[in-house]
Amino acid sequence: MKKAHNFSAGPAILPAEVIKEAAGSVLNFNNLNLSLLEISHRSKDFIDVMEEARALVKELMGFGNEYQVLFLGGGASLQFAMVPYNLLPQNGSAAYVNTGVWASKAIKESKLIGNTNVIASSEDKNFNYIPAGYTIPADASYLHLTSNNTIYGTQMHNFPHSPVPVVCDMSSDIFSRRMDFGKFDLIYAGAQKNIGAAGATLVVVKESLLGKTGRKMLSMLDYQVHIKGESMYNTPPVFSIYVCLLTLKWLKKNGGLAWIEKVNKAKADAMYGEIDRNSLFTGTCAKNDRSFMNACFLLTKPELEETFNKMWKDAGISGIKGHRDVGGYRASLYNALPLESVNALVEVMKEFEKKHA
Ligand SMILES: *Cc1c(COP(=O)(O)O)cnc(C)c1O
Repeated sequence: MKKAHNFSAGPAILPAEVIKEAAGSVLNFNNLNLSLLEISHRSKDFIDVMEEARALVKELMGFGNEYQVLFLGGGASLQFAMVPYNLLPQNGSAAYVNTGVWASKAIKESKLIGNTNVIASSEDKNFNYIPAGYTIPADASYLHLTSNNTIYGTQMHNFPHSPVPVVCDMSSDIFSRRMDFGKFDLIYAGAQKNIGAAGATLVVVKESLLGKTGRKMLSMLDYQVHIKGESMYNTPPVFSIYVCLLTLKWLKKNGGLAWIEKVNKAKADAMYGEIDRNSLFTGTCAKNDRSFMNACFLLTKPELEETFNKMWKDAGISGIKGHRDVGGYRASLYNALPLESVNALVEVMKEFEKKHA
């Protein structure tokens, strides 16, 4: 099988060697003559997977013992509810920056739990930029940000100085660049965009933030219960966590965040360079806020849509159709996408211009 150039927005491309090793472990894990899928999560072999994955997350973030790492079920979408449920007391208020559909969903859940203020938004321009210059209320229980807006192709390239704890949804750009993770008090990310297979959600939380809402907590929604259970209060999504471990090992082995940042920058430069150069395409976002993970662009001659679609499909390219809220195209350039896939797409765009401009 010659693999397609996979630009899918999520679930998304994984390193080929990770897929291969994961497939092998589904057949026979650690030479146990058993599948990874049919052993106890309490067995030593799986506990080792969980512990190594948690340790690697801390290592990549440069965190010590004040932070706890969890792999939970329910997707990033469950975190939209768990964050306010665990951090927002009845008499408190939460501050949210609305940068797109995912942030809006987080706001919706928070409003069901407590006082929630949207302190900045880019909704006026269909979320095609990152708001700046807003004031963060000093009495907020926390500030909620979305570092990368998967659907619109915007990304926060710097983060506000916050007087209150910062929570960040990093689902679509986690571990894509070097970053001062210490600026954040709670980070969450669904696995399926940049670190693994769908099923697990990574949550990294500063433990000192917890247990202060005065709320009687449902066990499964209580971070402290999951911390106490070492991320195994109930049966965790074992396969997804295993794929996360393999991907994190791949990242570390190749040079970690400094390495992947360089790779991702080269891919984004090639992609946006062509979008800006080519007369048949135009980018959709404010240039300074463009995402290195999801590049969104439109045809300047929409009548050529079918022609262009046939060309990239014929070139073995997959998954660049834009989200319905933006239209056009979206090339997702997640960590595991090689530069050669971007080059293949750029070649098609050049060829398309030669024939049809
Ligand atoms: C995909 C995505 C989500 C939703 O993730 P689920 O795991 O499907 O719940 C949330 N936030 C961002 C930024 C995303 O890209």
